[in-house]
Amino acid sequence: MMQFVSNTGGGIPVDLETAILDGFASDGGLYVPSELPKISLEQLKKWRDLAYVDLAFEILSLFINRSVISEFELKKLLKDAYTPFEKPEVIPLYKMESQKDIHIMELFYGPTISFKDVGLAFLVNLVDFFLKRKNEFKSLIVATTGDTGPATAYFTAGKSNLSAWVLYPKGLITEEQERQMTTLTHSNIHPVGVSNCLDGGDDLDLVIANLYANIQFKEKVHLSSVNSINWGRVMMQTVHYFYGYLKVVETIGEEINMSVPSGAFGNLCAGGLARKMGLPIDKYVIANNTNACLHRIFSEGVFSKQPIFETPSSAIDILIPYNFWRFLYFCVDEDATKIKKWSDEFKTFGKVEFDKETLAAYSEGFLTASISDERTLEVIKEVYTTENYLLDPHGAVALAAVHDLKDILGDKKLVCLATAHPAKFPQVMKDALQVKTISEKGKHPSIEKAKTLREKVYLIDCYHLEEELLCRMNADWDLKHNTHN
Ligand SMILES: *Cc1c(COP(=O)(O)O)cnc(C)c1O
Repeated sequence: MMQFVSNTGGGIPVDLETAILDGFASDGGLYVPSELPKISLEQLKKWRDLAYVDLAFEILSLFINRSVISEFELKKLLKDAYTPFEKPEVIPLYKMESQKDIHIMELFYGPTISFKDVGLAFLVNLVDFFLKRKNEFKSLIVATTGDTGPATAYFTAGKSNLSAWVLYPKGLITEEQERQMTTLTHSNIHPVGVSNCLDGGDDLDLVIANLYANIQFKEKVHLSSVNSINWGRVMMQTVHYFYGYLKVVETIGEEINMSVPSGAFGNLCAGGLARKMGLPIDKYVIANNTNACLHRIFSEGVFSKQPIFETPSSAIDILIPYNFWRFLYFCVDEDATKIKKWSDEFKTFGKVEFDKETLAAYSEGFLTASISDERTLEVIKEVYTTENYLLDPHGAVALAAVHDLKDILGDKKLVCLATAHPAKFPQVMKDALQVKTISEKGKHPSIEKAKTLREKVYLIDCYHLEEELLCRMNADWDLKHNTHN
């Protein structure tokens, strides 16, 4: 029986349904599976030709007991989640022409055109499925650096057992991303534009943590989150690593490298776990922009909070990669007391220095790079000029990191994750290509349509955010639930 425990050791083991519906573990830690499933090369060979959704079914089945979700229900949930994707392959791979053995994994064909769709399409449907079965309701709250918000809002819109409060740092995401949230008309979607976020999206995470800590409030409005604190995101995101591997290798067992633009480490936590499960990845490249928190953690062993910079790859302008704690748990023999000690130390002092042995344990198989804004723009231009392919700024950070590290990476095949469609970042694309208007390749019909729609949004100053949310979320809950009595 697969169970889930807190990576900081509190509470009791729970089943998948509880882990998914609660978001955070009861002691404030992150849920992790009590045991990581192992996958043999024989198994990988059998999965070789599976379509994305069928592969997802196999991998998720390792974490989900049939008594929690039946085979029929899981297949239906997956089919419903990925049918709205624009490409039948769901996440196609593009083989570069100008650079040998580099494949771009295109994670941006979901309805809100970023990689967040890949995890959230399934997770939001799963939350809704559990709630309907129990006849319960939840208020979801998420903070976004630009892409989690649109995806959460899109998949939650119109779902009768859910409402979503979507917080974004006003001015620090693009207008295109903002409109993806504010132009939804459904009454269960509440976009909140927050001004004066000095630490960007991290400020919002802090407010959410405070709301969670307010037990009376949390229980009243049935608070939960689908940020990548939620195990469901990480679990679903393991699938694209397996899929990409199976698509590009000639022989199963051959080692390849992958490069991932990283912020909160939710995507690469899943990649790291996929490797621990048996996926033959030699090196993962952690690609940071100038907000190089992960770069420092993995190269120097220091986890510390630094001032934030605004960059062209704004979705990874993150100072606190909280999913690192989840990954670290599996690198220290699942010793929750260590994770508790370090995460408390970080909360108190804003800094942790890891000992040499721990650093060696978690950094094995990872390379890192911190890519400048200029270099990001250059790579967009280079790739466009040489092969008429438009990378978004985050994909460009990942590819630039590969160039920086090419001597160490050697000549193994490489998969570079492209996490957003360039249409979300028109100004960056114009700056990179030095043009005044963007060609059709850089546009997307959903973004064009959102430009014509009316906006609905709460604007709140960060200073008052917590009290305002307490008040509005309470009122919304009363309105929806007490009037039925
Ligand atoms: C969220 C996001 C990332 C970073 O993913 P993490 O899981 O936070 O590391 C990268 N690129 C884009 C476009 C994103 O939206």
